[in-house]
Amino acid sequence: MLKLPAYTATPNWDMSSDTVTRPSGEMLAAMLAAPVGDDVFHEDPTVVALEQRIAALCNKPAALFCTSSTLSNQLAIRTHLCSPPESLICHAQSHIFQHESAGASMHSQAMMIPVAPATTDNLTVEDVRRAFVWPEPVGLSAPTNLVALENTLSGALMPIEDIRAISEFTRAQGAKVHLDGSRLWNAAVAEGRELSAYATHVDSLNLCLSKGMGCPVGAMLVGDEAFIERARRFRKAFGGGWRQAGILAAAGLYAIEHVWPTMRESHRLAKKLADALAALGFVLVLPPDTNMVVVEGPPAVASSATMLIDSVQERGVRLSPVYQGSLRIVLHHQISEECVDIVIDTARRMFG
Ligand SMILES: *Cc1c(COP(=O)(O)O)cnc(C)c1O
Repeated sequence: MLKLPAYTATPNWDMSSDTVTRPSGEMLAAMLAAPVGDDVFHEDPTVVALEQRIAALCNKPAALFCTSSTLSNQLAIRTHLCSPPESLICHAQSHIFQHESAGASMHSQAMMIPVAPATTDNLTVEDVRRAFVWPEPVGLSAPTNLVALENTLSGALMPIEDIRAISEFTRAQGAKVHLDGSRLWNAAVAEGRELSAYATHVDSLNLCLSKGMGCPVGAMLVGDEAFIERARRFRKAFGGGWRQAGILAAAGLYAIEHVWPTMRESHRLAKKLADALAALGFVLVLPPDTNMVVVEGPPAVASSATMLIDSVQERGVRLSPVYQGSLRIVLHHQISEECVDIVIDTARRMFG
């Protein structure tokens, strides 16, 4: 029998992201036990089981297992946008606009319209209406055929009322709505909603398995049968068809049962950390609704955030460098209360 890798016995005090989780011994055991087949022919029973499970959770007809959320989002865009010139609207801070290597322009020949919300952290229907490019007059423009939303965005919740209103408006124009729900798992836990409560408002959605869900690899694209069938063709064309992927799908099935329920605790610890830092003069850049604390250091102390990063590192806790002026601390199921308390204690000694 395989020996568990040494990392499963050492604590994972890495708060730089929720992508840094390591598969636990139990998750690895579930992966080893998975029945497998050739997923290019849709004959891997564990992949089929995961796709059915996710589709059921979202109350949608079908799902497609993908290597990454980037692939899943790009397949969604490519499948929705089939007649260039077209445009898609997204949040100016969204992953699709900022961090997917201009994939929508490359793969789908689509113009991205990044929108900075006028009144809140989130896109509202007014923002979308203002940015919307209409099909008429013919001859000038690239009509908007897709609106891509993101929830959570850097850990902050998008009010479901805004999702509903944008969806109603967008669909009334004959355009589609995609939800990049890489961290929708966190939103559902924080708001006490079913995934289907969000999914009902959108034509497609992406769920990430390799962030807070703790899997080594994977994302799910969800939609109706015809959409997923076309996306499956594009997945092959993009080089994303894979064979005995059941080994990875097993990690996803395990995470739904055993990791997803731990998010409530991660959110509690994030709130505890946010409150402690705020009390020391850190400024919360975004509300700590779920598993992230995004702050700027106390303005009275130069490079305070960077000083904190260096000091906690000496005590074994990793934070990511300051990015675009703010410090983003990310919780996940392998971050214990002890680890959070070290960050709080270090900050108190420095700034208290
Ligand atoms: C991380 C992330 C992605 C991309 O995920 P990968 O698996 O790294 O490709 C897409 N959207 C959002 C909102 C993300 O946070």
